[in-house]
Amino acid sequence: LEELVQSIADKPAETKDGTQVSLAINTGLAADFEVVRGIDADGIGLYRTEIPFMVRNCFPSESEQCALYQKALDAYPGKSINMRTLDVGGDKPLPYFPIEEDNPFLGWRGIRMTLDHPEILLVQVRAMLKANIDRGNLQILLPMITSVQEVDECLRLIKQAHAELEEELQRTLVKPKVGVMLEVPAAIYQIGLLSKKVDFFSVGTNDLTQYLLAVDRNNARVANLYTYYHPGVLEALKFIANQCHKFNTPVSICGEMAGEPIGLLILMSLGYRKFSMSAQNLLKAKWILRHISLSDIADLQHKVSFETDPEAIKLIVSEKLDQLG
Ligand code: PEP
Ligand code: MG
Repeated sequence: LEELVQSIADKPAETKDGTQVSLAINTGLAADFEVVRGIDADGIGLYRTEIPFMVRNCFPSESEQCALYQKALDAYPGKSINMRTLDVGGDKPLPYFPIEEDNPFLGWRGIRMTLDHPEILLVQVRAMLKANIDRGNLQILLPMITSVQEVDECLRLIKQAHAELEEELQRTLVKPKVGVMLEVPAAIYQIGLLSKKVDFFSVGTNDLTQYLLAVDRNNARVANLYTYYHPGVLEALKFIANQCHKFNTPVSICGEMAGEPIGLLILMSLGYRKFSMSAQNLLKAKWILRHISLSDIADLQHKVSFETDPEAIKLIVSEKLDQLG
């Protein structure tokens, strides 16, 4: 299998009937950028900037951040790099910035924390904008967005950082595209409003599943309840695809669901064509895409819609996968 998978390394990610699919990488460690450089991917769909913050003992300075972000942008010149602003809290603690709370996943995490500390967000955005000089492939992604007001506030801060830097450096700087993570259920019902404000969406299926099912994604006791293949989760993903289409706003999937063969097939059948995943799943995903045509999966969405049991849904898709050989 390894050999088979390697043989498609340089081939495009497209289905048998020629539908182009975008496969990008999820990353977070500086060392990753050296590794992924050799992998043929459509840029970085999710750069988790909190990871370099987590492995230190104090906040990295603006210039330290800038150096790091340059590396990320250079991993795929000319291809989009979605840099997500700091997404700490929840299961991602910073040793030098303790957050103590009872329900961390429902608490002060992601954009909630950084909007309460605009100085942290401003430094980070400045570092991103500086890194983007002479590169131009930066896109900024906002995590844990729940409301339109949060987006307005983020856009205001990004604009401020941009204006200050232009003034300081006495030059014009590219305005990067800005996108919102769809991972809090309430945000899904505001896609129409949000699409007027931002350039793209990225679905975080890891958190979206956790919040739709009310299942802590890291709690072993309820791990059996955590599944992307719950009919409610699939219905939400279908709704998102339709809304993004209706409001003409690009959408991609950056949760790990797309890295699972079953997940990828279902997402394709729902109409998604842009995915990012951890590097180790990328070639497998490409292999699957290259072995299906849209007609093979045309009935999939319809078929699984009659099932109420995630296991039955997985079985239907597995059978499809088996037919690919
Ligand atoms: C997600 O929630 O699906 C996601 C991609 O972000 P993270 O796993 O970093 O929370
Ligand atoms: Mg998330």
